[in-house]
This record gives sequence, C-alpha cells and structure tokens, in this order.
Amino acid sequence: MFDDEHPGVANLDPDLLRALRAAATEAADDGIEFYVNSGWRSPEYQDRLLHKAISEHGSAEEAARWVATANTSAHVAGNAVDIGRSDAKAWLSQHGAKYGLCQIYRNEPWHYELRPEAVDHGCPAMYADPTHDPRMRQ
Ligand SMILES: [Zn+2]
Repeated sequence: MFDDEHPGVANLDPDLLRALRAAATEAADDGIEFYVNSGWRSPEYQDRLLHKAISEHGSAEEAARWVATANTSAHVAGNAVDIGRSDAKAWLSQHGAKYGLCQIYRNEPWHYELRPEAVDHGCPAMYADPTHDPRMRQ
C-alpha cells in the first residue's frame, strides 16, 4: 500500500491512492493492515484474467460477473483496488465512505473505488455485480 515502486500501486489514480493511504493510516491505529491484492493492471494482464475467468466459469457471460474487459476495467484505468484480509474489508465497509472509498459491487466485497461525493453523502447503492454497471456495457 505504501510501496511506490510497485506498479500496481504506483499507477493508481493519485486521488484514490491518497484516500487509501489516509484510510490505511487510521485503520493502523485500530491494529488493521490493508493489503492491496490487486490495484492497477496492464491491459494484457486484464486480458489474461478474463480468459482465465471464461475457462473457469464456462462462458463469457458468466465470467463478466467477475472480470471486466481491458477496455472497461476500472483496474486498468487505475481507479480500483482489491483489498485483502477480512478485517481490512470489514473496516473499510464501516469507515471507507469517510474517505470516499466505496464498495461498488455486492458480489465483490474486496473491490473499492473512489467516490468523492461519498464523503458528504455516503456511498452510492451497490450494483449486484459488474454486469449491472453501465460502465461495463461499452
Ligand atoms: Zn476489483
């Protein structure tokens, strides 16, 4: 999370990274450490993930509930992180909105994006899964 050398972290949107680091610093006071299981991804890596998901789930339609294309992925754009460890996810679901950090998909409790308006208004309603996200229909 604090490692600027790691491309998955260094290529994140600076505002998202700032919010994450602020949240991680406060969580550390509660004895909780954030792990970024996945941050920024190259388009090639996203393609590999998608192909793997298609073979695991048996169809592109089913895979789309879990893995976006390189063109639509918020990870490729540097706008999403997958947070690891259940205590960190629980902490974020409780305190993330204060930092504009929101869970976007009900089926992905690890996937967080920056929604600056959440600081004042709370996080927007979640999509059931990415296939309900209009951004994924491009
Ligand atoms: Zn994700």
